[in-house]
Amino acid sequence: MSENKLKVAIIGAGLGGLAVAIALDPNINAQVYDKAHQLRPVGADLSLFPNGLNTMGAIAPGIVETLIKAGSPTRMVNLQKSIGEIIGSQPEFEDWLYNYKLF
Ligand SMILES: Cc1cc2nc3c(=O)[nH]c(=O)nc-3n(C[C@H](O)[C@H](O)[C@H](O)COP(=O)(O)OP(=O)(O)OC[C@H]3O[C@@H](n4cnc5c(N)ncnc54)[C@H](O)[C@@H]3O)c2cc1C
Repeated sequence: MSENKLKVAIIGAGLGGLAVAIALDPNINAQVYDKAHQLRPVGADLSLFPNGLNTMGAIAPGIVETLIKAGSPTRMVNLQKSIGEIIGSQPEFEDWLYNYKLF
């Protein structure tokens, strides 16, 4: 049975490649390949942008609510030079465009 499944090779196990692998129909046999020998966490935080949250909600219903409970909304984003001078600020992101704020 499973050998009749459509086979798909996804090159790159980054956010895009893994999202495609999760979003594909389970009847498709997807293999993810990456040039890295090992995938490991880098210990950084992750900002979830409203358009990305919308896409995640479409791929995996319910996941956005779980993520929102685990995270916290971004209150302010500053763009600054390496010497610390702030050259731009974006206060709280509005949620009218994609239903969600920046997390
Ligand atoms: C420091 C930093 C912080 C960031 N923070 C955020 C954030 O908080 N929120 C956010 O939304 N975005 C953030 N981004 C942007 C986000 O990381 C990228 O938009 C996203 O990773 C792009 O996804 P991707 O799948 O296209 O590429 P990647 O995630 O870069 O994945 C590409 C993968 O393909 C593999 N690859 C490349 N060439 C080959 C090859 N020839 N054969 C096999 N495998 C290959 C690579 O090893 C890699 O694993 C950040 C980026 C950086 C650099």
